[in-house]
Amino acid sequence: MRIMLLLFVMGIVPAIIIEAVMVQTQEERAVSQRTITVQNQCAILCDQLANLGYIENPSSEVVDGELSILTNIYGGRIMIVNRDYKVIKDTFKLDQGKYILSQRVIDCFNGDETSRYDKKNQYIEMAQKIASPDEKGSGDACGVMLISVSTTEIQVTKDLMEQRGILVLTVLIAAILVLGYFLSGLLVKPFQKISSSIEALADGYAEETISVPDYLETEMITNAFNRMMRRIKTMDDSREEFVANVSHELKTPMASMKVLADALNSQPDAPVEQYREFMQDISKEIDRENQIITDLLSLVKMDRKAQDLNIETVNINDLLTLIIRRLKPLAEKKNVELILESFRPVNAEIDQTKIALAFTNIIENAIKYNKPEGGWVRTSLNADHKYFYVTIADSGIGIPKESVDHIFERFYRVDKSHSREIGGTGLGLAISRSAIVLHRGAIKVYSEPGEGTTFSIRVPLVYIA
Ligand code: ADP
Repeated sequence: MRIMLLLFVMGIVPAIIIEAVMVQTQEERAVSQRTITVQNQCAILCDQLANLGYIENPSSEVVDGELSILTNIYGGRIMIVNRDYKVIKDTFKLDQGKYILSQRVIDCFNGDETSRYDKKNQYIEMAQKIASPDEKGSGDACGVMLISVSTTEIQVTKDLMEQRGILVLTVLIAAILVLGYFLSGLLVKPFQKISSSIEALADGYAEETISVPDYLETEMITNAFNRMMRRIKTMDDSREEFVANVSHELKTPMASMKVLADALNSQPDAPVEQYREFMQDISKEIDRENQIITDLLSLVKMDRKAQDLNIETVNINDLLTLIIRRLKPLAEKKNVELILESFRPVNAEIDQTKIALAFTNIIENAIKYNKPEGGWVRTSLNADHKYFYVTIADSGIGIPKESVDHIFERFYRVDKSHSREIGGTGLGLAISRSAIVLHRGAIKVYSEPGEGTTFSIRVPLVYIA
């Protein structure tokens, strides 16, 4: 409807304006042409009058004849006024002998020849001075010729043109309406196609992508829509995968516990040592179950919105010292040396708990996945005017090339059996990355299998909401 209206307005408004301007121009042109023609003829007549001395003696039959021919041709009236403002000739014979003291006559005697178009009463009025050729320009007129000619026929032509214009406009309106109806339907069709495709998709009985390549715009819309659908699908898939992984991870320790308990149950007279050993294993599995649940809860917390962050200004040097002190026992157990290098004091606006968890996970990994003897983990802190940078390098086993891109995924572990032995849940790095991203930071990893791994982290000094 809107497109049709637009087409209508765009078609009709200019047509109406053009028609009005054309009719108006035609009228002005006709009037000015008529004025010039009559003025020219009257000028000749005026010269003749002056030469014949008609003003002094208004009894020339030749002049009378010419005057009546002129007035007949143009349907007008001519009056001749002498210096005493007396009408000495009136072709209508109405005012002959009377005195006429109008401004136009006075102006004309003063050399100001005027013409005026009276549109309402449909005539042109002109005043022309009568002076012999040698007196011309000096303003010494001996008389004034007042001419009025009818413009009825100009008006008739104008009316005719207007009528034709209205006829053409009516035809044009009808054509535009019909054309607009079809054209707007045609223009909108691709968009209707898009909306029906989306509806079909939403109702679930269509392909997962839509394609309407009719216009560049519709192609862009459908491409954007398809991209969005792909994202939703990826999110859906990853959610499904996550739930499957969580269930699996939670079931594994339970299954182990069940096997251990069943084994004990099936032997009524099992020795106490075996009981103790199996119970210790069950206890380990419970710890593991606990660890997975704790990690899952941390991850859920990280997935929340940024407004849940508890931002405060924290001294990062102190924070890293504290984390390293806490991890010292684990490092000693694994015979790993912990080194902390601080290049400058750094204070930053962060959520201390979340960032501490992120660094703890990464340093803990660096200890866990280190070489069996004489390993080291070097943590260094630096900053510029915008960010602080933490690098955690280790001399560990490294990460294979094909796994580097996946280590931040939830539940991803490079070597499932090995990590299980070490005690990972596969959630640590996912938690760390979420925490850093929540602070609008970035984390990158470089690794050389067999030589070591370096994590570099960048976090803004000032928290950007
Ligand atoms: P996990 O709880 O298993 O440690 P993470 O998410 O913390 O889970 O790490 C994912 C995987 O990335 C680990 O299982 C391990 O294989 C690998 N990884 C992480 N950090 C290191 C490291 N510093 N050196 C070698 N491998 C690492």
